[in-house]
Amino acid sequence: MASRYGTLRDIPLEEEVVPGTMLCAGCGGALLVRIFEKMLGPGAITINAAGCMSLLSVFPYTPFKSSWFYIAMASAPAAAQGVRDALDILIDRKRIEREDDLKVLVLTGDGAASGIGLQATSGAIHRGLDFYYLAYDNEGYSNTGFQASESSPFASSTKTTPPTDLAEGSILQKKDLFEIWRAHKPPYVATISPAYIGDMMHKIEKAGRMSGPKLFIAHSPCPPGWGIDSDKVIRIARLAVETGIWPLKEAINGEVTHTIIHKKRRPVEEYLGTQERFAHLFRPARNERIIRQMQQNTDDYWNAVLK
Ligand code: SF4
Repeated sequence: MASRYGTLRDIPLEEEVVPGTMLCAGCGGALLVRIFEKMLGPGAITINAAGCMSLLSVFPYTPFKSSWFYIAMASAPAAAQGVRDALDILIDRKRIEREDDLKVLVLTGDGAASGIGLQATSGAIHRGLDFYYLAYDNEGYSNTGFQASESSPFASSTKTTPPTDLAEGSILQKKDLFEIWRAHKPPYVATISPAYIGDMMHKIEKAGRMSGPKLFIAHSPCPPGWGIDSDKVIRIARLAVETGIWPLKEAINGEVTHTIIHKKRRPVEEYLGTQERFAHLFRPARNERIIRQMQQNTDDYWNAVLK
């Protein structure tokens, strides 16, 4: 089916999250939330697990035009189940009209999505809960000072994985949340990027035609956590896709399609070199072994995709 959303000109004009929040300037996650909420429109309720985005609404102020529900990190999908059930009961009892039904959105960071809240998400997907899930993946626990999460990339420096004589930053690989979610066979899973808004809007539109879990993992550059300037966020997000580090893809009922493919990928070090969290790979001396290993990991992924 043809999409109404291809370019920046197609972004809905109506704001659902109005300006004036306490988030950092240039926050990639905030941009994604703004566009995502525009796509869902006024009839949405956001279930927000504790994290950076819970700073959006601080009583008595909120930038959300629609309802917003704050919940602990582990429990957002469980709260979404309760909200969905309550809406269904109200519709059954004709207390609200079916056309006034709300879309239920779970909003979490990668710490909740990949670690603390994974069990509740697994249960919700297993039960076929009709909801959207947006994980803004800034690859660390940003709002508490950027400790490592289960989504932090290999060799990245965080508060809890500083480079030392024994290790070049994190010694663990980033969890593959896309594959973990896909293994549950939900109707829709996708990765998105703030540098590819057309691709993102098209995916939200497509998911909106489906009932059941609709899950999104969003690359979310974080200026203070990654050590980047606020005005470089979109450029770095674009580099992540152009180097192949952040594949843009979707899985419909488990079947995977890559939605953006750069046949000629840029070297991974162009992406790494833009961020302070990888600076130890380049200064005071270049760490050829780690840089080559990260390039190899990316090449292995794409060789398998393009085979
Ligand atoms: S710490 Fe990072 S993720 Fe959190 S609000 Fe700031 S830029 Fe956004």
